[in-house]
Amino acid sequence: MANAMLHGDAAKGRAMIADPVSAATPVPQAKLEEIFEDIRSHALYDHELYGCLNCGICTATCPSAHYYDYSPREIVQLLWTENLEGIHDAMQEKIWACAQCYTCAARCPFHNSPGGLVMILREVAIKHGMQSAKDALRPFTRVLLKVISTGNQLAPNMITPDAFPDWGPNICKVDAPLDVLRKAIPVPTLHTMDTAWVVNLKTSVELYTIWEATGVLDQLETIDENLFDVIVDVMEEKREEYQDWLDEQDD
Ligand code: SF4
Ligand code: SF4
Repeated sequence: MANAMLHGDAAKGRAMIADPVSAATPVPQAKLEEIFEDIRSHALYDHELYGCLNCGICTATCPSAHYYDYSPREIVQLLWTENLEGIHDAMQEKIWACAQCYTCAARCPFHNSPGGLVMILREVAIKHGMQSAKDALRPFTRVLLKVISTGNQLAPNMITPDAFPDWGPNICKVDAPLDVLRKAIPVPTLHTMDTAWVVNLKTSVELYTIWEATGVLDQLETIDENLFDVIVDVMEEKREEYQDWLDEQDD
């Protein structure tokens, strides 16, 4: 779409601008432009941004805006006006405040999706190995390992008071003999505590291929090399296991 092109020349003309009261190292203009080009060339960008009235309806209905120093209107305006320094600045913290509920997309009179734009900004932050992405994803290391190694996000045996201190006193409500209760569910794939449900080995191996082909694993390597190494080991093990199973079928 032409919208992004309208403002590009003005942005290119800017020199590297440093904030005189900030101790942070200024980001070279070329780097800012590279980051913006990654954002603008994202396959979904033209479907998420059509213009902006600066009306603030998105911010008025945004749950995250009520609790954080965050405004979807501001994010959209930064992108619409191609404010490269502002975009880079927002990627250092603000974009991680979005809850991805997409209320904004349902309300915007321009049919923009601020939440979708935030998702693009997050992907680009990961691609560039920004510290904000590493900080935002660190608490989810255990969940990521679980998803990639088992195909499930949360397992019954993960629901313990130690793992969820933010639940407060409500955590006691899950203090039940889940291993017994789950065996009563008439679906055999749910008779486990190690995963939410048992994922077929073939499905797991197919998922690994998808994650490799779509660049998910490359992104993970950029953000957390240790986790990446562990996951590669898990994938190799599962692939060998699957190959052994295939060989057995041939015998
Ligand atoms: S993104 Fe949409 S709702 Fe938000 S300020 Fe712009 S036009 Fe208004
Ligand atoms: S998707 Fe993000 S920006 Fe949009 S309303 Fe929800 S929290 Fe706010």
